[in-house]
Amino acid sequence: MTCWPSVIVATPAHSGVGAALTYTSESLIAAGTLVRVPLGSREVLGVVWDCPSTPPEGLDHTRTKAVAGTLAGLPPLNARWRQLVAFAGHYYQRSVGEVALAALPPQLRELDAAQLARRLKKLAKTLAGDMSEHADAARTDQPAQPAQLLAASGHHALSEEQTLALAALETASAPVLLYGATGSGKTEVYLRATERVLNAPAMDGVPTQVLVMVPEINLTPQLEARFRERFEPLCGAGAVVSLHSGMTPAQRLTSWLAAHTGTARIVLGTRMAVFASLPGLRLIVVDEEHDPSYKSQEGARYSARDLAVYRAKIETEALVAAGAELGSKISARCQVILGSATPSLESWHAAEQGRYQRLAMPARIGGGALPRLRLVDMNHQPKGALIAPPLLAAMTERIARGEQSLVLLNRRGYAPVLACHDCGWKSGCPHCSVFRVFHKLDRTLRCHHCGFTERVPRACPDCGNVDIAPVGRGTEQVEEQLAALLVDARRPSGEPARVARMDADSTRLKGSLEQQLAALHSGEVDVLVGTQMIAKGHDFRRITLVAGINVDSGLFASDYRAPERLFALLMQAAGRAGRDAAQSAASEMWVQTWTPQHALFAALKTHDYPAFAAKQLAEREAAGMPPFGAQALLRADAKTQAAAQAYLNLAAEQAATLPLRDAITIYPAVPLTIQRVAHVERAQMLVESASRGALQRFLAAWQPVLHATRRAPEARGLVRWAVDVDPLVI
Ligand code: ADP
Ligand code: ZN
Ligand code: ZN
Repeated sequence: MTCWPSVIVATPAHSGVGAALTYTSESLIAAGTLVRVPLGSREVLGVVWDCPSTPPEGLDHTRTKAVAGTLAGLPPLNARWRQLVAFAGHYYQRSVGEVALAALPPQLRELDAAQLARRLKKLAKTLAGDMSEHADAARTDQPAQPAQLLAASGHHALSEEQTLALAALETASAPVLLYGATGSGKTEVYLRATERVLNAPAMDGVPTQVLVMVPEINLTPQLEARFRERFEPLCGAGAVVSLHSGMTPAQRLTSWLAAHTGTARIVLGTRMAVFASLPGLRLIVVDEEHDPSYKSQEGARYSARDLAVYRAKIETEALVAAGAELGSKISARCQVILGSATPSLESWHAAEQGRYQRLAMPARIGGGALPRLRLVDMNHQPKGALIAPPLLAAMTERIARGEQSLVLLNRRGYAPVLACHDCGWKSGCPHCSVFRVFHKLDRTLRCHHCGFTERVPRACPDCGNVDIAPVGRGTEQVEEQLAALLVDARRPSGEPARVARMDADSTRLKGSLEQQLAALHSGEVDVLVGTQMIAKGHDFRRITLVAGINVDSGLFASDYRAPERLFALLMQAAGRAGRDAAQSAASEMWVQTWTPQHALFAALKTHDYPAFAAKQLAEREAAGMPPFGAQALLRADAKTQAAAQAYLNLAAEQAATLPLRDAITIYPAVPLTIQRVAHVERAQMLVESASRGALQRFLAAWQPVLHATRRAPEARGLVRWAVDVDPLVI
């Protein structure tokens, strides 16, 4: 019997081969089966989407090719997984095939059926060997019976807040926003929630599974250790696997297969893990859900946090539809927990509206207070001082007492905003509630929101001062200068102080991060200088001072999300200090700023995230910014800036007759802040709507126009274009 399977392959949206391709096969192939198919002169991996027994209308039979082979040993990717990648493709304006194939481990593309069979056998063998070692443990091949229930708890007695949160989790039906202070014991809540899921009965022989996502690869080893320690004795050594881009292709394939076959019960990973095939998925945890790294910045620019919420929803719908009356609430749903001490304003807003259920854990374990805020007004410090004398004195004191300090450098790469340090003038946009960006190349100030452009003024428009400069200049030298400034500081032993730096550069070498962390834990280092990386997750015990020394670039930025990020960063950093309750009373958070009267600091002083969020949300609402409006960026790279902008502006003109055009605002094209990279000129155009649905429908209708516009003579020299839906940086 001949069938006509439709197969999706990895063609990017841009190539124009968007939809599934039709092949022939002499037998029925189940949807979700991985196949190898001829494409042009190559043979590529594809996923069977559908397998009708009649050919689609209008098919050219003479050109239809046969499926070259199926990866038969592998169970098909289930309908929920296919629904997830299809949704992601549509929502983020990419081809479904591109999203689906990018979500599969790259090595799958190279293996034939025989090689794959060997890999699967090896996996099964590892597991079997492991099982004999753990003869008493709950077996994954036998769904847990009441007699074998995991009893993984018993490390600590839960705090009252943890107990309440876990009780609420049991009954919550909406996505849960776990709003817990740093050190409030969120991880313990994740572990207990995981334990419950692992104890729930399997359905159709598929054991229950949990997905835990963290923002950074660096954070996976710590978390992995905690999950392994807790669950390996009970579920076996193969039960916990990681999935992130730092792994070798072979490791990734092994983890992926373990998850796909149900061997792995817990998958820990970064944003890419949201696409892992997990047939028994019952819980998704997104830790530090506010973190920008959940948003992909290349290919399909998806938000793993948002997809996690969507995935939990469709998994639950499927379970409910399957009539999962297995006696337990856990069996009949897939829960999603978004955890953060400083939630994204999107999630916070959803909780305010009741779409998410908020569970608060405000207290730190052990009752330690959060550090006191010390604000340094840089207007009253010696001219040119990078570190104010009182802060330097406070650090010197710490060193003398054998305590540690953390010096936080605000992330670089914020688009530069100009400021006058005499009168406080900033390069605001007269039409928008954002700051205009300083473009060095043509010495202009441009609004990235509305496109308003002017030449950089020769002097401050308000006071005439000629010394106007980007906010936050001069921070590059901090690391060296700090060591010089602390040259006379002495440890209790009389030795000189040790200053170390930790950032993406210093930790690039494998093992160097672990080494640097060990040096910090052992007390070898007195002062650690670093970017936001040092603020995240790590549990440092002896730090009693945290200092943010160049925070103003986060207050005055063209990017309207910059204050949100700065607040999160400072709160996270504050959470690093005084984790030992005994020291927390003496812990301080120092912040140097030229604008101490800014509302952000008032909220920071009282650790009042809700007040900060309310103010920010009110501003966003007034300006129609997300989450109150929806945005997308159309980006173009070309040989010349003129061509990039011409493509964008033409695409906007051509959109005139599209449906819903009047519900959409399209702003003029602007060059990117970093306008030229490796001889390629970059430009972008903002597209806005009050309605997310309207924006979605408009973008879908715009796609063919964007493809066609590429061939317009004005767009000659265009290298590539892309749509970024829900962009994080504008
Ligand atoms: P968070 O993720 O909210 O920042 P963690 O889960 O890392 O907090 O917990 C902070 C510290 O408190 C960890 O060292 C953890 O082992 C410990 N901890 C968590 N829950 C408890 C508890 N119920 N009793 C004692 N210690 C706990
Ligand atoms: Zn001025
Ligand atoms: Zn503007």
